[in-house]
Amino acid sequence: MGFQLGKNSMKNMEGIDDRLIDIAELAITLSPIDFGVPSDGGWRSEICQAKLYNAGKSKCDGKNNLSYHQSGKAIDLFCLTPEGAASWDVHDLTTAATAMLQASAQLGHELKWGGLWKSWQDYPHFELRD
Ligand SMILES: [Zn+2]
Repeated sequence: MGFQLGKNSMKNMEGIDDRLIDIAELAITLSPIDFGVPSDGGWRSEICQAKLYNAGKSKCDGKNNLSYHQSGKAIDLFCLTPEGAASWDVHDLTTAATAMLQASAQLGHELKWGGLWKSWQDYPHFELRD
C-alpha cells in the first residue's frame, strides 16, 4: 500500500530487539492502514515503566512485575487515519495487527498480540516469545 515508518517511529524503536524492527518494517508495507510507534512504545527504563503504571496505562510496575518493553521484546503501535490523526480505534488496531502477524509469520518470529489475550486486551501491544 506504500506506507513506511516515519522518522519518529524509527527513533522510538531504538533499543528494541531487531526482530521487532524487521517485523514492523515489513508489516507497514503489507498494512492497508498507516501506523506508527509512540514515544513510550519501544524500550522502557524502569522509571518510564513505573510512570506508565502509576498513570494506569500499564499493568506492570517495572520492578516486581517487569514489562516486555523493559527487555526490548515489546512494541506498541497506534494507527493513523487517512487525515493523519492518531487512532487507537480497536478496528484500526486490529487491521494493523493482522499485518504485524502476517509479517512475523513470513519472517519466522513468534509474535504475540495483546488484542488476543484472554483476561484483558491490550490492542496496541505486541511482544516476542522466545
Ligand atoms: Zn506494550
